[in-house]
Amino acid sequence: MAKILVSACLLGEKVRYHGGEATLDHPILERWRQEGLIVPVCPEVEGGLPIPRPPAEMQGGRGNDVLHKVAFVRRRDGVDVTAAFVRGAEAAVALAREHGITVALLKDLSPSCGSTMVYDGGFSGRRISGEGVAAAALRRAGVRVFSEKQIEEADAIVESRGKR
Ligand code: SF4
Repeated sequence: MAKILVSACLLGEKVRYHGGEATLDHPILERWRQEGLIVPVCPEVEGGLPIPRPPAEMQGGRGNDVLHKVAFVRRRDGVDVTAAFVRGAEAAVALAREHGITVALLKDLSPSCGSTMVYDGGFSGRRISGEGVAAAALRRAGVRVFSEKQIEEADAIVESRGKR
């Protein structure tokens, strides 16, 4: 059965910017785990950022714009961390290619992993539709990216591909 790329924080790894996790307690995730299908990834850590780290948001656009160098990822204090986010996105794509992965389940709202919603760049908590840098890079590479709320949809694709 094909492997699935999963945000490490959804698996309970304490890799988030504040040093915590975002554990997803779901029977499908547990089944994937038992079947040995999961490949964990934290693009921000892969990109060289520490734990904990100051929160960052995309400004001037969303994931694809960052990859096209017309938008940036910045910390609240203005420090530009775009390069680390792009490195992390590239690492996620490399991991997906290495394992022949075509489905990813990523944590929504993250400037890396968000796949349906992200923060608007103003550090005000306002959410907008869009995707983060790693999610955009994975989609460009042909990976179907789902948020944790879409795990049933992701599983349906995994199952259908596994039966082919
Ligand atoms: Fe989780 Fe992705 Fe943020 Fe890493 S970059 S902490 S995997 S949401």
